[in-house]
Amino acid sequence: MAVSGRGPYDPQNVFAKILRGEIPCRKVYENEYALAFHDIAPQAPVHVLVIPKGPYVSYADFSQTAADPEIAGFTRAVGHVAALLGLEENGYRLLANMGVAAGQEVPHFHVHLFGGAALGPMLHRS
Ligand code: AMP
Repeated sequence: MAVSGRGPYDPQNVFAKILRGEIPCRKVYENEYALAFHDIAPQAPVHVLVIPKGPYVSYADFSQTAADPEIAGFTRAVGHVAALLGLEENGYRLLANMGVAAGQEVPHFHVHLFGGAALGPMLHRS
């Protein structure tokens, strides 16, 4: 079910559990500010999630309340992961769902990184 993207932060959300090592993930990269792992239900040949280590509900929360070094460290980690996965030559897509209209399901800010194929139109049109 989609979530609002607003606080309070729920420390029992699935990505908080992954960060604490309570449930496994297929890790791609980790540094001081970010963890990247494969999405459990991939929607492209490469579908990786990059999450900040801090407790941010959504992009709104992260962009408004994270410290500058966290924002810089996280942003650089996303780019680093894309390069690490060899996606720079053919290109990739970043996506962050915030709130109900976007269909955000997990209330811990995350960026989807898609690649490995031509990705089609940017948005589904009904
Ligand atoms: P969103 O709709 O933007 O909140 O995306 C949440 C994403 O998290 C979905 O693509 C799910 O497939 C993914 N997901 C949920 N649980 C897990 C998990 N345990 N490990 C990896 N990815 C997950």
